[in-house]
Amino acid sequence: MRSYAFPGEIEPDILEAGAVQVPYMRTAEFSALVKDLERRLLAMVGADGGRMIPLTASGTGAMDAVVAGFVKSLPGEALVVDGGSFGHRWADLCRYYDHPVSTVPVAFGRDLNYEAMERTLEERRPAVLLMQHHETSSGQLFDVRRIGAMCRRLGVKFVVDAISSFLSEPFHMDGMGIDMAITSSQKGLNIPPGLSLIFLSKTLNDHKFAKGSYYFDLEENLRNLTRGQTPWSPATLLFLQLKARVEKLERAGGVEANIRRVAKLAARFRSALAAAGIDMPTEVKANCVTGFNVPQPQATTFARDMIDRGYYVMPSGNPTWFRVSHLGADTEDDTDSLTTTIKSLL
Ligand SMILES: *Cc1c(COP(=O)(O)O)cnc(C)c1O
Repeated sequence: MRSYAFPGEIEPDILEAGAVQVPYMRTAEFSALVKDLERRLLAMVGADGGRMIPLTASGTGAMDAVVAGFVKSLPGEALVVDGGSFGHRWADLCRYYDHPVSTVPVAFGRDLNYEAMERTLEERRPAVLLMQHHETSSGQLFDVRRIGAMCRRLGVKFVVDAISSFLSEPFHMDGMGIDMAITSSQKGLNIPPGLSLIFLSKTLNDHKFAKGSYYFDLEENLRNLTRGQTPWSPATLLFLQLKARVEKLERAGGVEANIRRVAKLAARFRSALAAAGIDMPTEVKANCVTGFNVPQPQATTFARDMIDRGYYVMPSGNPTWFRVSHLGADTEDDTDSLTTTIKSLL
């Protein structure tokens, strides 16, 4: 099987980094590993003087921690950009934790109206804006730099879910005016699921977080992490794979080189699909995934037919909407074989 679902194909040496006896975590060595990862990853997200909280949880765990600990600590309403299932999740979480929230609905696969967004921010003056950099359900990329400038001007705290844009789109917290960002292991980092990362900009260095969740308590995490320890048992092997992955990324030219690699594969896949007349309606396509419509009746069995031919692609709640991830370890030849197989089924 070849996987074009998250995390996609993982390189053999990264897999092997996790196929070892589990090291004990209450050691100086593990603390040093955590501190080293924090330093390198903060540089990758452009959060000078910030902090990183690794959580043993999938990406939604990080979203949960952000709402329970940060959003709940703020005196005013949260505003959420809802452009698909992940935007919707921010709003769901605010409601779950009983925090006042309103949403800016964005049609599936369409870009934000930035002028209208600016007016909404001016009128509502929310305490915090929560959004996705890349709404993974539709493939739509949002201009967070532009939104960050508005938030900074109006004194609105800005939280960005960069789970599926980190390492495949330019991203810089300080440069984009982002106070808090999250990512997770099984997307751009291309290691197995189970580890998510919260990045705090130095703008939050003295922030008093709310006690909204025991396991995800941000202050408890930050306190322990000053000495490189997580309060609870970490997913130790994922930390080893994360280290191997980060070192490999740095050796291969860093974040920019990885963005170029992913963008090239995405462009190659899209031009092959476009030549075959396949509908890819997303307005501003992120490098991470390509979403496309498969006509009926082929759509009904498309995901299964692809599995039978050796490929995982991602289906969705919409029976004709499918996505292919470009984040995995892949060559141009691999991508060409994938497109040949897709075209043979349509
Ligand atoms: C994958 C993803 C998440 C988190 O999903 P999990 O299944 O909990 O890892 C959140 N936001 C975005 C934008 C994602 O792509």
